[in-house]
Amino acid sequence: TTDFGIDKALKTLGVEGVNEGTSTGSNSFSNGDIIESFSPVDGQLIGKVKTTTKEDYEVVMDRATSAFKTWRTMPAPQRGEIVRQFGEKLREKKEALGKLVSYEMGKSYQEGLGEVQEMIDICDFAVGLSRQLHGLTMHSERPGHRMYEQYHPLGVVGIISAFNFPVAVWAWNTALAWICGDVCVWKPSEKTPMCGVACQNIAAEVFKENNLPEGICNLINGNYEVGEFMTKDARIPLISATGSTRMGKIVAQEVAARLGKSLLELGGNNAIIVTPDADIKMTVIGAVFGAVGTAGQRCTSTRRLIIHESIYDQVKNAVVDAYKQLRIGNPLDENNHVGPLIDTDAVTMYNNALTQVVEEGGNIVVEGGVLSGEGYESGCYVRPAIAEAKSHFKIVQHETFAPVLYLLKYSGEVENAIAIQNEVAQGLSSAIMTNNLREAERFLSVAGSDCGIANVNIGTSGAEIGGAFGGEKETGGGRESGSDAWKVYMRRQTNTINYTAELPLAQGIKFDL
Ligand code: NAD
Repeated sequence: TTDFGIDKALKTLGVEGVNEGTSTGSNSFSNGDIIESFSPVDGQLIGKVKTTTKEDYEVVMDRATSAFKTWRTMPAPQRGEIVRQFGEKLREKKEALGKLVSYEMGKSYQEGLGEVQEMIDICDFAVGLSRQLHGLTMHSERPGHRMYEQYHPLGVVGIISAFNFPVAVWAWNTALAWICGDVCVWKPSEKTPMCGVACQNIAAEVFKENNLPEGICNLINGNYEVGEFMTKDARIPLISATGSTRMGKIVAQEVAARLGKSLLELGGNNAIIVTPDADIKMTVIGAVFGAVGTAGQRCTSTRRLIIHESIYDQVKNAVVDAYKQLRIGNPLDENNHVGPLIDTDAVTMYNNALTQVVEEGGNIVVEGGVLSGEGYESGCYVRPAIAEAKSHFKIVQHETFAPVLYLLKYSGEVENAIAIQNEVAQGLSSAIMTNNLREAERFLSVAGSDCGIANVNIGTSGAEIGGAFGGEKETGGGRESGSDAWKVYMRRQTNTINYTAELPLAQGIKFDL
């Protein structure tokens, strides 16, 4: 691993050896068991992180609730200045953090850098936003009255994140929550704990340099049980949870039981519709990157291609040809296109999906398989596979978090393709490849895609931070990142001020004393 500068990156990020998994810097402590983090790249131990016990968690919550009292009174543009400094620190540490993301999660180094770039971008966005937390003013129906609304911070925001975006999802939430005046407690995925500690170290430096309490930014570590400390905790008004639909259904109920708010970013089952008017070259690039990028472990990965029968063979052959060129191997080596899955459990799920699609009547057109031998010692490298399938297959209706692409055929008008695209339970990302204006507009219309993201002549995979990110149905309904997603991190208050010496009642009601 030293070949790729991993040791140096770990040193730069201050995460060598055994790490405290509960906050950091002068505030770091942990009394729980140790998580050993092994890289899916080469199976080597990266480092260790101690987990957070319930007692540790109580200390964190005391710090967080007390830090909130300071942080909330700081003017929002000044909080923006802190986020600006955090963005600067990320720029300094971009290579090191991108490398750790790649090594601990298994995505390509380019994608690791891209993830850190997203963190930087959301910081820039948040800095501008810190001067734009606007409410509306309304005209009161009563004379001599003024009515307006304002947004106040919520308090402690709990963030639970998935392994596949081990750093960016936290930043999307935390940069906005901070400028809104909230403090955060983050539980990263137990599969990528080193990334969590590295981010916390970077943020802690900024708070320290500004003499601000580190309780504004808190880290806890462990599995779902540590997540449950937060979901059951009435001191946390908002839980932002990213992960599987299975997890989201549990978290949503826990949080709703105490009437808290949840922001859910769950699984997708994303499709690209390819119509007879599609640009085939663009389609192939979009589909292949979408299906095999991050080894099919993006929430926006392309899982289904819905192809018109008139061009079905042409598109199939082009995609199959492109798959022949894929190089699978160490993601830190920029010559490779596809890295490993996160762990051997994920490999089992991938194998099961390929078995199931055949059992249901599917036809494999690009063989999958697990790679072994030199360079594949971790046991996590698999061949991206393609199967011809039918939309009603159970496996096609399910999100398999691996590089398995299903080819589905449609005939007739684009409405038929839209119906297939919408008949899954998930509603995250969707795309149409067409140069036909009527088809594109039908896809985007009220009767079109039912997803949170709908693209024309772009694949399903990836998004810019400027737009609100999230999806419908079993994807959970949450929106984060750009647009007005910030509003979920604040509470809205309507204020009416009477500047007369009378007390007129609303709706003209008379109450004479
Ligand atoms: P996961 O659901 O296994 O775990 C996600 C996080 O939830 C982890 O931190 C885990 O410890 C925690 N968790 C699990 N059960 C919990 C519980 N009962 N209470 C509290 N916390 C709990 O997901 P994963 O395997 O890490 O990630 C892959 C999934 O995430 C895929 O389904 C993918 O589509 C989804 N995802 C969605 C988005 C999005 O924005 N929509 C982004 C990234 C990943």
